[in-house]
Amino acid sequence: MRLMRSIRCLAAALLLLAWVTAAAAAASRISPLSMREVAPGVFVHFGRIALMNRDNDGAIANVGFVVGGTGVAVVDTGGSVDEGRRLLAAIRAQTNKPVRYVIATHMHPDHVFGNAAFSETGAEFVGHAHLPRAMATHGPHYLESFRDAMGAALMDEVKLVPPTVTVSGTLVLDLGDRRLSLTAWPTAHTDNDLTVFDEATKTLFAGDLLFVHHVPVIDGSLIGWLKDLDALAAVSAARVVPGHGPLVTAWPQGLADERRYLDCLARELRDAIRRGIPMATAVESVCASESDRWALFPEYNIRNATAAYAELEWE
Ligand SMILES: [Zn+2]
Repeated sequence: MRLMRSIRCLAAALLLLAWVTAAAAAASRISPLSMREVAPGVFVHFGRIALMNRDNDGAIANVGFVVGGTGVAVVDTGGSVDEGRRLLAAIRAQTNKPVRYVIATHMHPDHVFGNAAFSETGAEFVGHAHLPRAMATHGPHYLESFRDAMGAALMDEVKLVPPTVTVSGTLVLDLGDRRLSLTAWPTAHTDNDLTVFDEATKTLFAGDLLFVHHVPVIDGSLIGWLKDLDALAAVSAARVVPGHGPLVTAWPQGLADERRYLDCLARELRDAIRRGIPMATAVESVCASESDRWALFPEYNIRNATAAYAELEWE
């Protein structure tokens, strides 16, 4: 009897060992996302300037994390669970401290499709007060519409994880001797834009309120965005991580290109509306002067102009 029990114990132990070994092997197969430490304890992966597809794993947005005394805060999880896992692996390559917060800068798939990779970490998911509604409204469409470009293998794992903590106005998260100041913005790029400011290093994660090189994308309000730019420019940041594009180290000068493009849309579309030029005609040629200055201009300019025309028409 005792022998049988010992054998059973041994078998269970061997099974456990095999499972642990397999899990470790699986974990080690995940190659950590390449990160750049842009300031002490602030790590960023700069995504490719591209549209999301199966070849780039949806890894087109800038994602990052901040390491504090007692834990880690993640800023955006990327465009697939695969990317999210690689981000988690990159965190684990730096520290064993717990991931306490997973912050979403806004609802777009390239920023939140990796959320499920952090479900088991015990972290709070943090987002703008409008984010739950935005996810509920747009989420099913996102899950469906990205299947073609991303493929079933990547998309089947994606789960929309709504925030457990929401922000209206501002909220300070304490990572242990390190404060992150979160600001929920009035409608601009989307109606749920949230920025993250690391007080210790004056690093601002601007999310998609700032695009560099990648043409800005309007999914909220052109008028609102132009208004937000002044407040954004007033942040005393030593460096700014845009949602897309390289690190900005001169602030607010780093806003100039985006402001010029958005100003151009507002000016030329208002002019077209005043002259009675119909939307379909106006959007074809609006801000042609900007076309050589941005990546992905053909992919987004007409869409931006169409949304902005509809908004400005009712001013
Ligand atoms: Zn976005």
